[in-house]
Amino acid sequence: MKTLIKNTILIDMAQEEPNIRKADILIEEDKIKKIYNNNLTQDEYLEINKDCNKVIDANGMICMPGLINTHTHSGMSIFKGYKDDNTLMDWLHKVIFPVENKFQSNEIYWNTYLSCIEMIKSGTTTFNDMYFNMEKVIEVAEEIGERAVISWSVTDDSIRDKFEKTKEFFYKYNHKNSLIKVLVSAHAGYTCNPETIKRCVNLAKELKTGIHIHLAETKSEEEIIQNRYGKTPTRYLKDLGVFDVPVILAHGIYFSQEDIELLKTIKGGISHNPISNCKLASGVCDVVNLKNNGITVALGTDGSGSTTTLDMFEEMRLVGYLQKVTKLDATCIKAYDILRMATIEGAKVLGLDNEIGTIEEGKKADLILINQNKTHLFPINDICSNLVYSATGQDVDTVIINGKIIMQNRNLINIDEQKVRNEITKIQEYLMKGGE
Ligand SMILES: [Zn+2]
Repeated sequence: MKTLIKNTILIDMAQEEPNIRKADILIEEDKIKKIYNNNLTQDEYLEINKDCNKVIDANGMICMPGLINTHTHSGMSIFKGYKDDNTLMDWLHKVIFPVENKFQSNEIYWNTYLSCIEMIKSGTTTFNDMYFNMEKVIEVAEEIGERAVISWSVTDDSIRDKFEKTKEFFYKYNHKNSLIKVLVSAHAGYTCNPETIKRCVNLAKELKTGIHIHLAETKSEEEIIQNRYGKTPTRYLKDLGVFDVPVILAHGIYFSQEDIELLKTIKGGISHNPISNCKLASGVCDVVNLKNNGITVALGTDGSGSTTTLDMFEEMRLVGYLQKVTKLDATCIKAYDILRMATIEGAKVLGLDNEIGTIEEGKKADLILINQNKTHLFPINDICSNLVYSATGQDVDTVIINGKIIMQNRNLINIDEQKVRNEITKIQEYLMKGGE
C-alpha cells in the first residue's frame, strides 16, 4: 500500500527550531518512505504515481506529526460536563465513583469509542490511557486503528486482577509492530499504599516497562501524603523506587526545589494537563522551570470528565497563556516549543520517539493534515503561532495512523459515528439520568 501526499507545507518537528518547507511525502505500508523537499518534478511524480494506491492533494494544508495525548482516561467520556464546578476530591468521591462503579465492559467500550472519535477528529493519533476494562480500550483502538498505550489503574483495593491482566496483555501486545503498548499503572500516591506501589515497581521491572501515575496534582494531595508519610508526593514515589523505571507523571504541579532535583534523573517525563488543572482549580504546572531543569514535559488532556474536551489544540493554546501570564513574561515559551510538547516530547515521554513524534523517513506514518484555508487562520504570518493560538481540532482535515487513512476531508473511514452517539445516549439514560 502506497500513499502520496502532494503539495503540502511540512513541519516535521524533527529539529530544535522550526523547519517549514514545501514537500511531497510518500508513505509505504506503515512507514514514511520518502520526503521530497520542494515537491516532485513532473517526471518523478509520473514514475511514483504508477504504483501508488492513493494520491492526496494537500495544497494549502499543513502536514505535521499526529498529536500525542500522554494522559487520558478514555472510558470517562460520558462524564463530559457532568456535575461540573466541584473540587477534585468531592467530584471524584461524590460524583464520579458512584457512577463509575456501575461501569461494565459495554459502558467502557462505548465511552472509549466516543473519546477515540473525538481524538481522531481533533488530530490525536496516539493516546496514553489509564483506566479499567482495558481489553475494551484495546478493542476500540484496534477497530479504529488508533495507536494506544494502555495500563490498568491499580489502587489498593484492586491489585491482583489488574496485575495479572497487565502481565497477560503485556506479553500479548508489546511486540514490535503492534499499535498497542502496555504499561504498569499505579493510580496515585494518595490511592496506593507503599506496598501497592512497590508491587507496581517490581512488576514494571519484571516486564521491563514503565509506570503511568498521577503525581502532585493538587494541594490537598500534597497535604495527604505529608500527613501520612512526612514527605512530598515526589519524594514518596522516589523512595519507593518508582523513578527506577521509566515514568509518565501526570500533572506535576506541586514540586519543591528538592523534588525538581529528584526529577532530573527520571526516564520519561511529565504529562501536563492544563485545561483539567484550570477547571478543577488544581494549580499551574511550571512548564518553563521543568524544561529549564532538563525535564521532558509533554501534553495530555486527562479524561473528558475533568477536561470536557479532548482537543489537544485547546491544550496547546492554554499552555502558552498560562506560562506567559503566570510568569508575566511573553518570551518564556515559544509556539514551536508548545507544538513539540504535543508531538515529539510526547513520544519521548512514552518511550516511542524512535517510532513517532516527527515526520522523518523510516518513522511510522502517523501524521495529520490541517486545512489552512480558513478565515480564522488568515493571514499567515507565522504558521506555528497560527497552529497554537488560532487553530482548533476542527481544522484537522486528514488523519493517517500507521500508514492508514482514518479520516479524510473530515470524514471518518469505517466508523459509524451516529451509532456511537446512540449507544452513549442509552448508557446516559440508564446510568445517569435514571439514577437521579
Ligand atoms: Zn488523570
